[in-house]
Amino acid sequence: MTTQDELRPTLTTEAGAPVADNQNTETAGVGGPALIQDQLLFEKLAHFNRERIPERVVHARGAAAYGTFTVTADVTPYTRAGFLSEIGKQTEVFLRFSTVAGNLGSADAVRDPRGFALKFYTEEGNYDLVGNNTPVFFIKDAIKFPDFIHTQKRDPYTGSQEADNVWDFWGLSPESTHQVTWLFGDRGIPASYRHLNGYGSHTYQWQNEAGEHFWVKYHFKTDQGIRNLTQDEANRLAGEDPDSHQRDLREAIERGEFPTWTVQVQIMPAADAANYRFNPFDLTKVWPHADYPPVEIGTLELNRNPDNVFAEVEQSIFSPAHFVPGIGPSPDKMLQGRLFAYADAHRYRVGINADHLPVNRPHATVARTNSRDGHLYDGRHGRQKNYEPNSFGGPVETGRPLWAPTAVTGTTGDHAAPSHVEDDDFVQAGTLYRLYSEEEKQRLIANLAGFIAKVSQDREDIVERAIDNFRKADADYGQRLETAVRELRKK
Ligand code: NDP
Repeated sequence: MTTQDELRPTLTTEAGAPVADNQNTETAGVGGPALIQDQLLFEKLAHFNRERIPERVVHARGAAAYGTFTVTADVTPYTRAGFLSEIGKQTEVFLRFSTVAGNLGSADAVRDPRGFALKFYTEEGNYDLVGNNTPVFFIKDAIKFPDFIHTQKRDPYTGSQEADNVWDFWGLSPESTHQVTWLFGDRGIPASYRHLNGYGSHTYQWQNEAGEHFWVKYHFKTDQGIRNLTQDEANRLAGEDPDSHQRDLREAIERGEFPTWTVQVQIMPAADAANYRFNPFDLTKVWPHADYPPVEIGTLELNRNPDNVFAEVEQSIFSPAHFVPGIGPSPDKMLQGRLFAYADAHRYRVGINADHLPVNRPHATVARTNSRDGHLYDGRHGRQKNYEPNSFGGPVETGRPLWAPTAVTGTTGDHAAPSHVEDDDFVQAGTLYRLYSEEEKQRLIANLAGFIAKVSQDREDIVERAIDNFRKADADYGQRLETAVRELRKK
């Protein structure tokens, strides 16, 4: 035995007892059946059977890193959030990138929005900004989300994603035209997680110390520059290196090449919202930069890889409902649905004490609740009383809401989101199409046509509805797409 071997610790069971033989099961005689008293065998097999937790229904496939957010501008006129309170202030962050539709083991280099889920470990609690790499989304009401995702995932009969389902839903949901135009453009397949922008996408509320409130949209501009893959490049890479984006992020950080993003916000005074030309709470719309110019407020750097992917990435949880004082929700109906759905998913997927795990718990403060027990409760509260009010010195409420109250009018009902002067499902899709270079337009048409052409030959109605939406966005867009689709469907 070498000195090196002598220094190695003893292998043990989960209960800490030394293991004598980890290679041979105890049997009744040489070549005989296994004995039930070999508990090491059963402990190993039983643990192995339980290694997986339910994967995320969406955003299953992802990679993450820790980093630092640094404030670069005075935003105290707009928000009283402590972590934004002074220039130069730094806050630890954890950022998880992901694809949306693919399962846990799927490839990174695919056409899909990318999740951009950011956790700020602030001294006033964790603030989660659960964004994407796109400023808009396919739908504007969370009640449509399960239906939408069902069309992106596997068909109940074929077990595969089906062009019929995808285009049927998009054709019948014209509000998706803007996001689909973005997705099939060049940014639909980023070259890596370092080369994409992040967007908060939803409108959020900021409230200042005086109680005034503003509506804001967040932008994270990659300092590495936007880089994308063509469909052919992505097809090749997805086969050759399914983990391409995950590997790229980890290796860049290992090399000390820390990716950074410039953080900007668009700020809308609350009084503007009612009469703005677009519904500012409609997730299928942007606020054009000319109306509300993005202003720089900070920088974001990723500089530390997680040590354990399962513990820190798979078990990480983000919730758009994790706000801090000075930041709150808007009436965006997609956001309102997400405020419920994320925390609900974590309770099912990771468990009721998911927020006790090191990656999820506050790092710059401590959580003080009267909630107790449940699976894997760590006993952190010891003998403390678990109710309020109490006269034993337990934690007390502040009496000050995190965000400002907003006025509402009208009656209850299944209302569609209110339309503003220039709202329709097509105007901003048309703007985006016309913003693309001629070369990008050609790639957009080829990408869209290639997918629409896969719709079953006997479902021309689905094809026609799909093309009609793009026609309404821009006549040239619709006409070119129709020509390309018809050509492919003749073959
Ligand atoms: P602007 O001309 O002021 O802004 C154009 C913005 O479009 C750019 O700043 C850039 O956003 C984004 N952009 C540029 N090239 C591409 C591309 N190839 N693919 C996707 N996005 C691109 O016009 P508007 O603000 O009126 O926006 C026009 C359209 O641009 C919108 O309809 C929307 O689809 C898209 N867009 C708008 C954003 C916004 O917040 N206003 C953000 C992103 C896209 P960025 O600087 O974020 O890279």
